[in-house]
Amino acid sequence: MTDRDRAASCRGPYGGEGVPEDCGDPARFEVARHRRTPLRVCPVHLGPSLLLADGVLWPPGISLIR
Ligand SMILES: [Zn+2]
Repeated sequence: MTDRDRAASCRGPYGGEGVPEDCGDPARFEVARHRRTPLRVCPVHLGPSLLLADGVLWPPGISLIR
């Protein structure tokens, strides 16, 4: 698996900082965050991540990445 594939897997609803909680599904969306790396999430975790992850902008900035 390449780094690119790794980067494109879902980081889970909390952003994965310090916790290995990747859900492992392919990421479909990228959520912009304040002074943090954008959070890549699968469709299932898009909603929860907007409410639970640290630094999510409001209104949310969401990009479709694939
Ligand atoms: Zn996920």
